[in-house]
Amino acid sequence: MTYNAVVIGGGPGGYVAAIRIAQLGGRVAVVEKDKLGGTCLNRGCIPTKALIAAVEKLKSVQEAADFGIEVVAPKINFSKVQARKSEVVEKLVGGINFLLNKNKVDLFAGAARIKLPGIVEVENNGETQELQCDNIIIATGSRPALIESLGYNGTTIISSEEALQLSEVPKSMLIIGAGVIGCEFAIFMVVWERK
Ligand SMILES: Cc1cc2nc3c(=O)[nH]c(=O)nc-3n(C[C@H](O)[C@H](O)[C@H](O)COP(=O)(O)OP(=O)(O)OC[C@H]3O[C@@H](n4cnc5c(N)ncnc54)[C@H](O)[C@@H]3O)c2cc1C
Repeated sequence: MTYNAVVIGGGPGGYVAAIRIAQLGGRVAVVEKDKLGGTCLNRGCIPTKALIAAVEKLKSVQEAADFGIEVVAPKINFSKVQARKSEVVEKLVGGINFLLNKNKVDLFAGAARIKLPGIVEVENNGETQELQCDNIIIATGSRPALIESLGYNGTTIISSEEALQLSEVPKSMLIIGAGVIGCEFAIFMVVWERK
């Protein structure tokens, strides 16, 4: 199979580029080694917004009395909050799958590497296949920067990826990094803590 373009990475950078190429008449494939939607849908923008939406609801209930609406103390089911977050993510990932299909973009599951100019090799469970192409788009994204001296261990010292999978909200947490991601987690934890 020869493609006008092979896109490595099915995150927002990759799938949007692939759809656009297809819309312009190009024959295109996306190779994704993990989950379609990349960091944004699976471990970034979308799950964090789902958690923020949950604490916004909680905050509205907490502040309802100021508006003359008295409610009993809310009962919170954190596993349900997490389950809803996962549902939102799955639905949106399904949407991307649909869009790729609709635009006739071929999707290959596996890890891609550029073997030679114009040849992308896809490896999945020990099996490899080669895709020939005129152009290659590398849209492999980024990973959390793990600062070695902090002793990341994935349980008590974690990155945003594990923070999104917590089964309960910790009693205390130090967030290193006050960028958008750090601040979002801080908002979530603070509102939750005040419940
Ligand atoms: C916690 C968090 C919250 C965020 N919130 C926001 C937000 O609110 N708004 C916003 O605009 N941005 C947000 N971001 C940033 C956003 O997620 C990234 O900017 C965006 O995902 C980058 O898209 P991308 O396609 O370049 O890379 P990614 O989304 O990282 O996708 C890259 C994909 O490439 C795949 N890949 C890598 N190597 C290979 C290979 N060799 N073969 C095949 N596939 C491969 C990966 O599995 C991955 O799916 C957030 C990020 C995090 C971590």
